[in-house]
Amino acid sequence: MKPLSQDWLAELNLSPLWREREPVALAPSPASEGASATVIEVAQMDWAQLKQTVATCTLCPLHEKRTQAVFGVGDEQADWLFVGEAPGAEEDMQGEPFVGQAGKLLDNMLASISLNRSERVYIANVVKCRPPGNRNPEPAEAAACAPFLDRQIDLLAPKLIVALGKVAAVRLLGRDASIASLRGQVLNYHGRPLIVTYHPAYLLRSLMDKAKAWEDLCFIKRTMQDLQSAERTPI
Ligand code: SF4
Repeated sequence: MKPLSQDWLAELNLSPLWREREPVALAPSPASEGASATVIEVAQMDWAQLKQTVATCTLCPLHEKRTQAVFGVGDEQADWLFVGEAPGAEEDMQGEPFVGQAGKLLDNMLASISLNRSERVYIANVVKCRPPGNRNPEPAEAAACAPFLDRQIDLLAPKLIVALGKVAAVRLLGRDASIASLRGQVLNYHGRPLIVTYHPAYLLRSLMDKAKAWEDLCFIKRTMQDLQSAERTPI
């Protein structure tokens, strides 16, 4: 996988899709027959409209080699949102994020904090279509897909977002930094608490960091408990 760089971040920040939310043409829109969706329209879509727009999206070159777009999976009322980087080969075939070996590890990580992917959890990716050869998404691809993930987050309104790996962290935080420097703190995505940990695919290759991932999971669970007890405490 290609390392991320400041160029990646700079291109994200320069994208009109990402920065200005101007009415830029996206895929054919179910919300406006005969026209193309705009970023503003995406920001007003419901779940069904958003899914249909993503399924037919041709905004970036990743649509050319996909089997299908991989929208996301889970409970649409979820308190927990886990965000990865992009579908891989298995995900592209099955239409669901985090299947295959990395998916099994994510399921085990969720189970270790008494969660599973069908209850109170939603899982999505930065880009919805598979990058060829499982490379990282290019900056322009992540920027093109940004309104879809942003709208998923708006619709979900999760209590806590967990960014899995650097691509998701950089995309959601809008700044470049190492995973090591971001772990162990409650960060912020548009006013929502966000915690960064390792991507399960990385952990499959880097067994030494599994202990750190376990620390992160404990921190994630404690943070959610704190958020829930703060909600219950009368002001
Ligand atoms: Fe559209 Fe996102 Fe797929 Fe690119 S990755 S074609 S922006 S849905």
